[in-house]
Formats: sequence, structure tokens, C-alpha cells
Amino acid sequence: MAFDPQNKIIIITAPSGAGKTSITHYLLEKYPQLAFSISAATRQARGNEKDGVDYYFLSAESFQEKIQHQQFVEWEMVYEGKYYGTLKSELERIWNNHQVPVLDIDVKGAIHVQQQYPDSTLSLFIEPPSVDELKKRLQSRGTETEESLAARVNKASYEISFKHHFHRIVINDHLPRAREEAARIIEDFLEL
Ligand code: 5GP
Repeated sequence: MAFDPQNKIIIITAPSGAGKTSITHYLLEKYPQLAFSISAATRQARGNEKDGVDYYFLSAESFQEKIQHQQFVEWEMVYEGKYYGTLKSELERIWNNHQVPVLDIDVKGAIHVQQQYPDSTLSLFIEPPSVDELKKRLQSRGTETEESLAARVNKASYEISFKHHFHRIVINDHLPRAREEAARIIEDFLEL
């Protein structure tokens, strides 16, 4: 029988720099049943990010227009002046393809999606081993200015305080271990 995603949703949330992107990529490669939910965002593309692959990069005007037309499942101003959101059309696209969307989104967005789809959502919170470690990781990524680094570190401490809102907490003390733990949780949810 063909795989029936039953309109399930997987949310992977964490403070930025906790390693959620590498865990998300690992899961997406391992399970063809999953598909990355491409968010809309108004920030600039970084490095080799591509429109329609990493994000749908939108102007602030076009993002606002989609808010007005209720085209988002959730949206947030994640950083000062920068909007990010999950489009309803993106979830539909993935479900129509008989796959389960994986949302790599911030903590507030994750809580909103979970409230809207309480019976079909699995949420994973990826916790950094410590705020100091997280700061080191963000610094080594080399994509942050002093100011944006400080903003991300502050936001991280705040976000960690919401970890108990999520179904499962995976501590990313060692990436290969954390990936495997996440994989077991996904297999359970997908009934593999
Ligand atoms: P970045 O700018 O590093 O790509 O992402 C910044 C933060 O925005 C990350 O925590 C990321 O998970 C979050 N994010 C990405 N897409 C969405 C979205 O659609 N909605 C929300 N609420 N957050 C998002």
C-alpha cells in the first residue's frame, strides 16, 4: 500500500545554532517520506542559498500581502524587521506529494503550528548543551555580526525556557548521537 502521510507534520525547533539544520538535513536524507517545508522569509539570501530551495525569499510588501490574504499557517518577525512564515500552500504541496513536511522553524512558530494541528504534529526541540557552547558554534559559523550574534544568543536563552512545550527534547551534545536519537523518534511517529 502507498505510504499515507495522513497530513502529519514534523516540527524541528531550537535556538539558532543548536544544530537543528544538520539534524533536519540528516533526517530528510534518510527518510524519503519526509520533505523540507520551504518557509517564506524577507531576509537576504546567504552564501549559496537559493530561492525556492532554502526559502521563498520575498519582499516585505509581498510578505504583508500574503499575511492579509491569510496564506500563512504561522508567521513571525523572528529577528528585528525580518519576517519568516510557513505558507499553507507549502504544506498542501508536500501532502499532495504523499510526504510529511518537516518544518525547521523558531519556537513561537512551532507552538502556533502545534496548536493548529494538535493531533497530527510531532515536535522536537533540539537543545544545545549550554548557551556558551551555542555562542561558540554561532561564532565559528562566521555569518554573524557582533550585533546579530548578541541578538541570537539572547533569543536562545529565552527560547530554551519554552522547551517543555514540545513533545520530545533532544540534547545536541554530540551530533551523531543526537541525529540517531531524532531518527528513532521519527521512525516511531511514521510507524516505520
Ligand atoms: P535563519 O535566518 O538562520 O535561516 O533562520 C532564523 C530562524 O528562523 C531559525 O530559527 C529558523 O528556524 C526560523 N524560521 C525559519 N523559517 C521559519 C518559519 O517559517 N516560521 C518561523 N516562525 N520561523 C522560521
